[in-house]
Amino acid sequence: MKGGLMVAADAETITGQACFSPEESVGSDISSPTSLVRGACPSLSAPMQTGDGLLIRLRPSTPGLTVAQLRALAETAERHGNGLIEITARGNIQLRGMTRDSMPGLAVDIDRAGIVPESGVVIEVPPLSGCDPSEIADARSLAEYLRNAIGALRPRPLLAAKLAIIVDGGGQLPLDQLSADIRLKAVHAADGAQRWMLAIAGTDATATPLAAFSKEQAVAAVTRLIETLAVMGPRARGRDLNVPALRAQFSFSADLVRDGTVAPSAAVGIIPLDKEYTALGVRPAFGQIHARDLIRFLGLAEACGLREIRTGPDHSLLLIGLPHDRIEDVRAAASDCGFQTRADDPANYAIPCSGAGACASAHYATKQAAADLVDVGLELLDGSMEVHLSGCAKGCAHPSPAMLTIVGAATGYAIVVNGSASDEPVAYIHKEHLKSALATLGELVRNNKAAGESAQQCLKRLGRDAIATALRQG
Ligand code: SF4
Repeated sequence: MKGGLMVAADAETITGQACFSPEESVGSDISSPTSLVRGACPSLSAPMQTGDGLLIRLRPSTPGLTVAQLRALAETAERHGNGLIEITARGNIQLRGMTRDSMPGLAVDIDRAGIVPESGVVIEVPPLSGCDPSEIADARSLAEYLRNAIGALRPRPLLAAKLAIIVDGGGQLPLDQLSADIRLKAVHAADGAQRWMLAIAGTDATATPLAAFSKEQAVAAVTRLIETLAVMGPRARGRDLNVPALRAQFSFSADLVRDGTVAPSAAVGIIPLDKEYTALGVRPAFGQIHARDLIRFLGLAEACGLREIRTGPDHSLLLIGLPHDRIEDVRAAASDCGFQTRADDPANYAIPCSGAGACASAHYATKQAAADLVDVGLELLDGSMEVHLSGCAKGCAHPSPAMLTIVGAATGYAIVVNGSASDEPVAYIHKEHLKSALATLGELVRNNKAAGESAQQCLKRLGRDAIATALRQG
């Protein structure tokens, strides 16, 4: 069979679905329930138990879905689950609210729609790969080449479940902010030739560069890293690799490449592609949309010429191939159906996880808190920073640090400044005081912001102590 039911067999030998929702997984194979280790990824063959039923996370093996495929996915999400659809921070699709009995029907529908979940090592590429005139290289062909090379390894490597590889051809929506164990980035070498810069363990800014390669050399080098990780064991990650040894092996040179990337665009908003077509990035309000709203939107957008939908970083959907003169119609339809459609929408900067009612680990209703934040703390959402609303200390919705993170706990909330959900908080607030604390933080910026200063600059200048004091007094 071509579709999702194949996943279990592949997952026994090579795992790699990059997963960041750490909700306790109890798992259930469609035919014979099994338990999953903590940190394994919810898939069609091994859904995860959450507060609202079973959850699956899906990364289609094709770069995008047709309108018909996404409609079929929405229909099956409503038929076999609770209809809630989410796009994760890494651009995976999550369907929620299934039961053990409804899972087989969901798998059949997904297979029938021709949607093949990616299995084995997940290799992420920018969502506009192949249709962005400003990209240095189309990452898809190298990713495919690499996928085949890794798939051909014998014995099959047993890798860490969260191992992530990024192949980034540059362009308007690079994956610079996403962390990966192994990353290849297209660059222009000093001699003008196009090369692939290999780096390990981190985001584009923090990963350690090893060398720049031609396409064939890059595939060979990454394959060698995969074999090395397999030898080190199924928990080994990119950060465990021996950098000096690899640099010596790959003849690292610090001045080998120069930057050849364009300024990145926001994932939400209009992204010009060529003279005829445009992409529109939209985001389900606070990362979640109901199937019936998505189906209604697809009907409207298809009539305007929508051909393909790709998932992107920051919980976005990229609508590809829209004629210029229909963009505003599609944007209005998206807004009407519950999407954020503008780069300057303040709600873009409130980042809640699934929260109470959806995730069993959540200590509060994060999406309601995000709506409250838009209501009372608009000063914080000027686009200079993000406010992460995390139902617990795992921080699924924003694994990297945010300027402010509100972390749910059993007795109230922890406020983390310039850190991740698991970092040391500057203050704790009582269970009943969240909305007033959000208002206090907004007021702090409003009353102290210097001319021309952003919310982030203001909070950084004031510092952690001033923020903690304001919350205590608020
Ligand atoms: S409450 Fe939020 S951060 Fe915690 S596990 Fe659930 S989705 Fe992740």
